[in-house]
Amino acid sequence: MLCTKGFLLNPKIKNMPAADYLVTIGLEVHCQIRTATKMFCSCRAGFGYDPNTNVCPTCLGMPGALPVLNEYAIGRTILAGLLLGCSIPPISKWDRKNYFYPDMPKNYQTSQLDLPLCIGGSVPLYEWNFPAGVAAPQTEAGVVRRVRLDHIHLEEDAAKLTHFAGYSLVDYNRGGTPLMEIVSAPDLHTPDEAYAYLKSLQQIMVCAGISNADMEKGEMRCDVNVSLRPKGQEELGEKIEMKNINSMSAVRRALIYEIRRQAEELDAGIRQEQSTRRWDDALGESIVMRTKENAHDYRYHTCPDLIPIHTDPLVQKVRQEIPELPDARRNRLITEVGLPAADATTLVGDADLYDFFRQTVDAGAPARRAANWVINTLTAVLTEKGSTTVGCPLTPRHLAGIIDIVEQGIVSTNQAREVLDLIWEQPELEAPAAADKLGFKKTDAGALEAQVDAVLAENSDIVDLVRAGNTKLINALTGKVMKESNPKPNPKLVTQIITSRLGLS
Ligand SMILES: [Zn+2]
Repeated sequence: MLCTKGFLLNPKIKNMPAADYLVTIGLEVHCQIRTATKMFCSCRAGFGYDPNTNVCPTCLGMPGALPVLNEYAIGRTILAGLLLGCSIPPISKWDRKNYFYPDMPKNYQTSQLDLPLCIGGSVPLYEWNFPAGVAAPQTEAGVVRRVRLDHIHLEEDAAKLTHFAGYSLVDYNRGGTPLMEIVSAPDLHTPDEAYAYLKSLQQIMVCAGISNADMEKGEMRCDVNVSLRPKGQEELGEKIEMKNINSMSAVRRALIYEIRRQAEELDAGIRQEQSTRRWDDALGESIVMRTKENAHDYRYHTCPDLIPIHTDPLVQKVRQEIPELPDARRNRLITEVGLPAADATTLVGDADLYDFFRQTVDAGAPARRAANWVINTLTAVLTEKGSTTVGCPLTPRHLAGIIDIVEQGIVSTNQAREVLDLIWEQPELEAPAAADKLGFKKTDAGALEAQVDAVLAENSDIVDLVRAGNTKLINALTGKVMKESNPKPNPKLVTQIITSRLGLS
């Protein structure tokens, strides 16, 4: 809310930029790779542990501690490169980027300068990833256009600093986590495109299982470069960088603001100077931090502790396991599984949810039903119980069992939710046993029909009203049958029998 408020309060950004300028945007995206261990040591990688519990002499930068490469992380980066059509040079090497700051105890970050793992390639802008309310150009295959990449390199993440008044806390758990940096060419032109780029890139990383890419958890972070030049000028304008923006909509807001600000200054004859600004999303404005920062400020040099990587064996290995891209997956879910486009997009954007769906189908559930349960009921239950698909007691096999007893008419959808809650508490129960425990049994059709007939006979006044057209009262009759029955039948089935008895269906 704050962001929106600040955004509206700022009179500078009511309008879009002056049309006389060409806007050039480049994005540098940092993406944490989904690995069990860190990049150069065997410490556990991941989010949510007590501060400074996953550390060792290597990731704490102790003198004499040497790095050991995480081959899996290199393979994931190559996989990302192959998915995005990059070329993978036969040799890639490591460089030290020197800087002095408490988030990097060695005083250098092990990174890659001139021989990165992946060169070139491009990111598809999927039409369904443009911001809500923005009409993306319609395309047949869903790809609006491809945004060129400069390169992808691999490096280690820095520690996490949390600043308070007068002091800061540092958590080295994050320090040394494998981090991909995906650097686009200056090939984007609008804030909406930048938004769609980030969303598409996130889906690709998630779909391929390379990264969870959750921006809220800092697993994906974005630096933005933007410059303006008058139409007709070949040379790019001075580049303004905004670092570490932590949501896609904030990137879009920052760009809208910054384009407007630069256009106004250029209109007023104020030259832009290459600089780094900080985007304050709450205030809705960017503030200059420093000017002129160049690669030579970091005094890069080849890392003497790590030999260059010969990539060929890994490329051969990774080529065998290239997964489907989000557009192919989405298309398959729509055309083969018959899901609505919105459901397919939801599953494409969440790898864990997709895995749960796929495993529920593997456990025997019909795909459309499984998707519906996973997207609607399961996500609601997980939010309610503060759990995730990975940590919850409910398994895809349970869910397939629940869907099955609904299909068989043993329980209604509402009753199935009670079954789910019981399984959550007692995961050793299978769905039929849980339904049995709750007194839900498959109805004996003959007995149920007799029950319906009895209720209709006892309530002839209501029956007359229904026959006269007040069909809403069918629910009242269903309720009466439900009340009289033990075990509880499926209310849908009861309504069906009533309507058929009254000649209404
Ligand atoms: Zn370590």
